[in-house]
Amino acid sequence: MGAYVDLDQSLTLALLAIGALTFFGLLGLAFTSLLEGERRATGLALAAAVAAAALLTLAALAPPSVRLVAGVVVAVGAVVILVLLAVPMGKAERGPDVPQVRVDERTIMFARASLEPGSPEYAAYYAAHPQDMEGDDRTRSLPGIGSPEAAKANRLVFAAMEASFSLTEALREDVDGPVASEKLEIPPEVATHYLRNVARYWGARNVGVAETKSYHVYSHVGRGTGIYGEPITLDHRYALAFTVEMDFHMMGPSPDAPVVMESSRQYVEASKVALQLAWLVRSLGYVARAHIDGNYRVIAPLVARDAGLGEIGRMGLLMTPDLGPRVRLGVVTTDLPLVPDGRIVDPSVLDFCAICEKCADNCPSRSIPRGDREMVAGALRWRINPDTCFRYWNSLGTDCGRCMAVCPYSHPDTVLHDIVRYANRRSGFARRATLRLDDVFYGRKPAARPAPDWIPARGQTIGFLHRTHGRTPEKNAPTL
Ligand code: SF4
Ligand code: SF4
Repeated sequence: MGAYVDLDQSLTLALLAIGALTFFGLLGLAFTSLLEGERRATGLALAAAVAAAALLTLAALAPPSVRLVAGVVVAVGAVVILVLLAVPMGKAERGPDVPQVRVDERTIMFARASLEPGSPEYAAYYAAHPQDMEGDDRTRSLPGIGSPEAAKANRLVFAAMEASFSLTEALREDVDGPVASEKLEIPPEVATHYLRNVARYWGARNVGVAETKSYHVYSHVGRGTGIYGEPITLDHRYALAFTVEMDFHMMGPSPDAPVVMESSRQYVEASKVALQLAWLVRSLGYVARAHIDGNYRVIAPLVARDAGLGEIGRMGLLMTPDLGPRVRLGVVTTDLPLVPDGRIVDPSVLDFCAICEKCADNCPSRSIPRGDREMVAGALRWRINPDTCFRYWNSLGTDCGRCMAVCPYSHPDTVLHDIVRYANRRSGFARRATLRLDDVFYGRKPAARPAPDWIPARGQTIGFLHRTHGRTPEKNAPTL
């Protein structure tokens, strides 16, 4: 009898403890979601917290036989979930994913879009690639990024974008420079350790080293006055790749003007880190070149992937372990001996992308494919349509970024999301379960989150800017 009473009391306490844990866990999720501006997730987590606590409290106060059944159900459920989280099912095969040909930068959309109609470059390009002409002319006929005529035009936000892009443009001149005549001998481990940490100190998030391969390097220059069409030879043996974080809150309103303000800012941040690194290396007596927006000689996502920073996902961007695709990339190539990191042996992202397709479902221009990867230039990958994507940007006047904003890997780097990321790396069951939960908490087609409140919305009166100083908007004030 005494043992039965002890067991009964223990069961009651266990149910109450599990109820409290579940309640506070879900309360934590609600609080985190509130800070992230995720209204739907906040409401659902609060409701789930109350429901879970009520259910388990009722079970704890129920007659002993009910308590026993509830205890067994909770215990078996917990064991099943723990076992499934540890089972490595559903791992995708990486397959052949090394491109067999070099890409000509002249063929990428940014290079094509900057061709001036009537110029010799324009005539030569479309004589060789007539299939691109009609679509590119259509893109050129649209208002364009930053245009006051564009659908998402926002004067103040576009002015900030111009400020950032003009700085990146100025920095493009300084990607290379003279090398110090005296060479400092540094063991590769020491140089790698130092450069990795100094890059982080200057603002990089993740840093990796790859051995430069021919498929990393464009075959011909596609942008740059006077050098357009020149063949590229880059014999730097090592490439240091890094990421900088795109602000979560600025990406929330996508597809809207704050996105291009943020991406232009992060191009500046990546350029600053890359230029300083390259300058530092050259001052030690080794050649080094920074690769920054508008002046790349390498394909940054491929270099970053081979430097162990992540995997290329369905949307064609690098998926990093801690921020998913919500990053911008920078690269420095050099002949300073470094220790390569090599690729991450973790195809869990490929498995997740295979079952997820959330970016494809949310892409307004239908530029992201559903289904399996296909063979492109000898490598397996998802083939996105950069032309329709870029055309959409040119009608909006801003980067879109919807794919980046809705991706389940893009959540902030917080404890709760990190637990999910850890489980996703380990278990195919976790990937399937968390994908469903992501759909439930954030929506299969998530609503855009509001921009930070200091950013004026399109169409707001100029008087809005005075509100924080206690003044009311003037009547007939001009609009943005
Ligand atoms: S949204 Fe889903 S399918 Fe698309 S990149 Fe992210 S994880 Fe992959
Ligand atoms: S940026 Fe927008 S249009 Fe382009 S692929 Fe992503 S979701 Fe689609």
